[in-house]
Amino acid sequence: MKPETIANNIRKLRATLPDGVTLIAVSKYHPAEAIEAAYAAGQRDFGESKAQDLRVKQQQLPQDIRWHFIGHLQSNKIKYIAPYIHLIHSIDSLRLLQEVNKHAAKAERVIPCLLQIHIAQEETKFGLTPQECRALLDEGTWHTLHNIQLRGIMCMSSNTDDTSQIEKEFATARALFDEIRSKHFSNAPHFNIISAGMSDDYPLAIAAGSTHIRIGSTIFGEPEI
Ligand SMILES: *Cc1c(COP(=O)(O)O)cnc(C)c1O
Repeated sequence: MKPETIANNIRKLRATLPDGVTLIAVSKYHPAEAIEAAYAAGQRDFGESKAQDLRVKQQQLPQDIRWHFIGHLQSNKIKYIAPYIHLIHSIDSLRLLQEVNKHAAKAERVIPCLLQIHIAQEETKFGLTPQECRALLDEGTWHTLHNIQLRGIMCMSSNTDDTSQIEKEFATARALFDEIRSKHFSNAPHFNIISAGMSDDYPLAIAAGSTHIRIGSTIFGEPEI
């Protein structure tokens, strides 16, 4: 896409978003030039799903970009992103959280993290079931991990045209967020992020209380892969 088109897409999206909703431009599979076009339009939050790609882009692009990791995170790749990652959206096991904590300690920082919740009907999507999420928090080890900070949850809805199904899934995520916040984070105002909503469903996600939407194709078009 042309740089002007990308900049326009960003502006149009921003104009529709309520206050308090953070727009994350999902730049996976798109080149540095596309990111620079969005950056020039004032965009600072970007999402990537591959640690190796992110590593290259992070070195190439302006240092005040806030990079969000939104893909499946392999333990052996954490070291590449630990020094600078702004928010990891895709924690789906205690083991992964422990690994992130270890690399965050080496990098001498505290890494904000979200628990990825599986709410969709598809089998293929990663994430904790609500029950697994409750179990992870109840088990309590996470309290001892001082180099991570749990900030909220992330979820993806089913890939369907059935609006009521998507609404139901986002409502489930919101109810889980409220439940775990009051049980485990009532004294932790930083537990305040619901990362939900992509190009096709972000208005529904915002209606259900999403605070961070992750938009790729509406900004950058379909990736050429
Ligand atoms: C690719 C991706 C997005 C963006 O999807 P679009 O439909 O292109 O907006 C959002 N979240 C995750 C986790 C993704 O992998």
